[in-house]
Amino acid sequence: MAEVGRIHSLESFGTVDGPGIRFVVFMQGCPLRCQYCHNPDTWDVNRGTEYTPEALFEEIIKYRSYMKFSGGGVTFTGGEPLLQAGFLLEVSKLCKDKGISVALDTSGFILNNTVKELLEYTDLVLLDIKNYDPVVYKTLTGVSLSPTLKFLDYLREKNIRTWIRYVVVPRLTDNLDSVRQLSGHLDNYPNVEKIELLAFHKMGEYKWKELGLEYKLYDTKEPDRELMKRIADIMGTSGKTVTLNI
Ligand code: SF4
Repeated sequence: MAEVGRIHSLESFGTVDGPGIRFVVFMQGCPLRCQYCHNPDTWDVNRGTEYTPEALFEEIIKYRSYMKFSGGGVTFTGGEPLLQAGFLLEVSKLCKDKGISVALDTSGFILNNTVKELLEYTDLVLLDIKNYDPVVYKTLTGVSLSPTLKFLDYLREKNIRTWIRYVVVPRLTDNLDSVRQLSGHLDNYPNVEKIELLAFHKMGEYKWKELGLEYKLYDTKEPDRELMKRIADIMGTSGKTVTLNI
């Protein structure tokens, strides 16, 4: 019997999660606990709506012409989509069969055989590297950095097209030495095409309150253009294209 997936929400005309117009699938469940998370309502893997692979594919295929003319596709994000890799493998096979490009937005925390198989059907990985300092990473996410770096190594080994995403949070991820080290590290990955800098924002703050969770960033400001530019300049020394999403 086909595996059932738990989905938080669907967005039919996404423009920020990969190239072109994208059908974005927000998967339920995440093993990380990022301090700046704006989707804490995706954390619990038991919430959301159940879909079979076919039912989700039926939603996706409706938008195929928009995806095609814009060079877009489908993006699986979350939460952490790799928690439901078996389900996404089924959906991705259906998408690839109809020529729909598949992107995966992930923290790279999970790399098992099912994930490896899923990556065979993935055209682009948006890999979120939350910080390059292992201590800051642990404080920020509650988990260790090393699985993400191993995941990045695997993407290089398989030559999978990759964009790196980095969220700039004042006094949390603006430690410039570690940004420099990350930039140097990325220099070794020809499969990494681009680095996207995303500005921390507070739009998800209310969700923490609603869920009765302790939000640690009430006093943290959104980064100004100058800080974003400084970090972009350092990231740019990797020789990769850097884009700013402010
Ligand atoms: S990985 Fe994404 S969904 Fe999970 S806690 Fe971090 S920001 Fe939130």
